[in-house]
Amino acid sequence: MSQNKNLHVAIIGGGYAGMAAAVTLAASNVLVTVFESAKQLGGRARGVQHNNVQIDNGQHILLGCYHHTLQLIEQVGGNIEHDFVRLPLQLILHNRFELKAPHLPAPLHLLAGLLRSKGLVFGKRLRAARFMLMLNRINFTLPHDISVLELLRMHDQDDELIRILWEPICISALNTPIHIASAQVLLHVLRDSLNGLRSNSDMLLPRIDFTALFPERATEFVNQYKGTVLTACSVEAINPHGKEIKLITRSTAESNAHTELFSHVICASSPISAARLFRTVPQLALIAEQIAGISHQPIYTVYLQYPEQVHLPQPMLGFDQCFAQWLFDKGQIAGQHGLIAAVISAQGSHQNLKHELLAQKVAQEIYEQLGIMETPLWHKVIAEKSATFSCKTNLPRPSHTTPLANVLLAGDYTAGDYPATLEGAVMSGILCAKAIAATIQ
Ligand SMILES: Cc1cc2nc3c(=O)[nH]c(=O)nc-3n(C[C@H](O)[C@H](O)[C@H](O)COP(=O)(O)OP(=O)(O)OC[C@H]3O[C@@H](n4cnc5c(N)ncnc54)[C@H](O)[C@@H]3O)c2cc1C
Repeated sequence: MSQNKNLHVAIIGGGYAGMAAAVTLAASNVLVTVFESAKQLGGRARGVQHNNVQIDNGQHILLGCYHHTLQLIEQVGGNIEHDFVRLPLQLILHNRFELKAPHLPAPLHLLAGLLRSKGLVFGKRLRAARFMLMLNRINFTLPHDISVLELLRMHDQDDELIRILWEPICISALNTPIHIASAQVLLHVLRDSLNGLRSNSDMLLPRIDFTALFPERATEFVNQYKGTVLTACSVEAINPHGKEIKLITRSTAESNAHTELFSHVICASSPISAARLFRTVPQLALIAEQIAGISHQPIYTVYLQYPEQVHLPQPMLGFDQCFAQWLFDKGQIAGQHGLIAAVISAQGSHQNLKHELLAQKVAQEIYEQLGIMETPLWHKVIAEKSATFSCKTNLPRPSHTTPLANVLLAGDYTAGDYPATLEGAVMSGILCAKAIAATIQ
């Protein structure tokens, strides 16, 4: 099929949303140019080097129900079974709680897993299973949104059940404290991961970094369709210009700004940058205000490089009432022996600690909980202060369309069922791309 001569789409941002849009448009024979301000692609899910070791700017995990993301990774040449370690649904808090879903069809696997779990008396396990059955009965849909904590309280989930079971799930999924987190958004994630195929609830841990996993492969794909992906090139302004959109761009290699015209623009930048770009366009000023009103939550990842022989009892392990919420053994996941990633999601007292001290405290927890006596050879704390939007109840999220028909908005924070996730980002990018591709059919 020949390329559509009338369309040239600019995509602002080479994160997962922008690259998903680029691949989808390229596959529909639409010419695209991606502008990424950073030196490297991937946005919040990008690979970084430290001490000659390849790490991510934060440990990420995918769920089996992230069908759009997984399908796109394969479309650009990835192989899910090679690229990821697949763990069947499990929730293990060291020495405190253990849930392993048995090999049964969903949602029986979770119910049986809950009933057989270790660390809670039978009555509480039954209460948790009844809660899940109730969610199934109401098709994971609430009459109106409330906080996760309110929902749990309404359904007889006590403090221990909340702390050991529901809070870790909510924080991992929504990166938002349970007293403000949207119950409806959590139910969307539970609906998609716990219903349907059993594999939907699998946890997928990447063997390669997040820039290599998709954005780099996506670039090759886009290039094959004559598209361009520019890094270290930021978009400074967007302006309607007749039927087209004028972009002012600046590459870090040159001092001069450039002006280019495009038929369409998909703004797939971070919310902060989208608000800045939209603010100066009168038709987009209201959306800019809405975006600027979105608050954020942090995620800290503490990487600790131990001697090679150090390993965890399993690839992923939770801690109860510690700074470190989840530990990932990069040796078992990616062959990076001795490297442990400790994840601390959402706001908390860890934000008041200097990185050095936080790393020491996490190493101390690993020693106390697991008896690992070796001293880390080095550590690296990556604090993503605006890691995700704060997924609060009834949060108004901007639509992918704007008052300007040829300016679209993508990104994990735009309207959709999901919290800030790779799947949400990818789905938003595909949605924008399909809206543009539909105009040529
Ligand atoms: C530490 C951490 C852990 C996470 N863990 C998980 C997880 O386990 N599972 C999960 O599903 N999700 C997780 N997330 C969330 C996930 O990373 C995001 O939802 C997703 O990456 C967002 O993608 P995006 O494309 O919408 O935005 P971004 O990744 O923010 O991409 C926007 C891009 O736009 C670029 N840009 C900004 N302004 C301009 C401009 N003016 N011109 C050109 N380019 C510009 C930026 O440099 C960036 O590359 C995590 C996030 C973090 C930070």
